[in-house]
Amino acid sequence: MNENPAVRRLADWDAERLRDLADAHETPTYILDLGRVRENAARLREAFPDADLAYAVKANTTNAVLETLEATGVDAECAAAGEVKRALDAGFDGERIRYTAVNPPDRDLDYISEVARAHDIVVTVGSEDSLDRMAERGFQGQLCVRVNPGVGAGHHAKVQTGAEPKFGVPYDRATAVVERAREVGDLVGIHAHAGSGISGDDLSAHEEFVARMGDLAREVGDLEFVAVGGGFGVPYHEDEPPLDLHAVAAATREALGDVSARMAIEPGRYFVADAGVLLATVNTVKETPETTVVGIDAGMTTLIRPALYDAYHAVRSLEPDVPRKRVVDVELAGPVCETADVLARDRPLPEPTRGDLLAIGNAGAYGYEMASNYNSRPRPAVVALDHGDDRLVARREDLTDLTRLEH
Ligand SMILES: *Cc1c(COP(=O)(O)O)cnc(C)c1O
Repeated sequence: MNENPAVRRLADWDAERLRDLADAHETPTYILDLGRVRENAARLREAFPDADLAYAVKANTTNAVLETLEATGVDAECAAAGEVKRALDAGFDGERIRYTAVNPPDRDLDYISEVARAHDIVVTVGSEDSLDRMAERGFQGQLCVRVNPGVGAGHHAKVQTGAEPKFGVPYDRATAVVERAREVGDLVGIHAHAGSGISGDDLSAHEEFVARMGDLAREVGDLEFVAVGGGFGVPYHEDEPPLDLHAVAAATREALGDVSARMAIEPGRYFVADAGVLLATVNTVKETPETTVVGIDAGMTTLIRPALYDAYHAVRSLEPDVPRKRVVDVELAGPVCETADVLARDRPLPEPTRGDLLAIGNAGAYGYEMASNYNSRPRPAVVALDHGDDRLVARREDLTDLTRLEH
């Protein structure tokens, strides 16, 4: 038996354990298996032994995940001042933190220039303005330039960053900005992130983008690292094969070509997606002329990916009598008054009844992280599994939490 399989499917989770957790913690609740997070880190490390490996923390910034990954030795890739603060609080040394600015508010840069000085954080700038603004704050530390490679990749237009002008300095301006950065501080790297969702069939776009970074690295010379982003896909569909990490690693190295700088990668979702499931309870079953609507207590404020990216998440009934039930096509709808608040359409499920417990798969990345209070919905709880134990790592919000910031 493979002790660290390339993917953990929703079907692999122990239904009885999940039912016990739902009994103990109610729903909606995210379950996060920290052991699986470690396994994902180990497979990445094994496939990319010679690369700088960072976790793009925005996929899941709960302290439990950050502390777990800190202990595995990976670095932290942060996209906002708040993420840098969380990484420092979780125990990452400054030398292991990279901050990548995307149109950073002044307040972010004030904080970053303070902590970057004290902790030796690498600051990645994605525009000449960001460079000037760091220089204005007297920053002379380690810098990296984010480049827009002009090649996008990803499972949905909304996650393709490589060709979106918002991200990075235009490729043909990169050399000039690198030179400028060398005047301001210590230029240590160049960076690009093409988007999210590198899959087995998608490697040509990935290779094209990495090759452009290799060309640029040779042109500007004298770098410590070339960061080629994250975006390592996970199989959200049950029948999708897992990513062949060794093939991605080989293709990436090959495409980068001969550079003296180290290669740096920064996956986010790959570390955490299949380590998480979302538990939800059926509260309404309604026959309509179009479909059977199954209302549940989790919606777009709990897991927004279906509404935001038309994302697919596997759904499984955790009821013990599932084998005896007939399968029907359902629409799985949340409690929010928005048409987009549908977690799945035309989904075959063992005929749900009120009170049934459901699990939604691959919910460890961009799930809890994107949860909101829209419709004055309290955010869900998060329970971490570790070494056979479970512990509440984020409590469920209650109704009084909703107004706590208001005067
Ligand atoms: C979001 C992000 C990543 C991680 O993307 P995943 O799809 O979660 O791997 C990596 N780098 C940057 C700059 C990002 O913004």
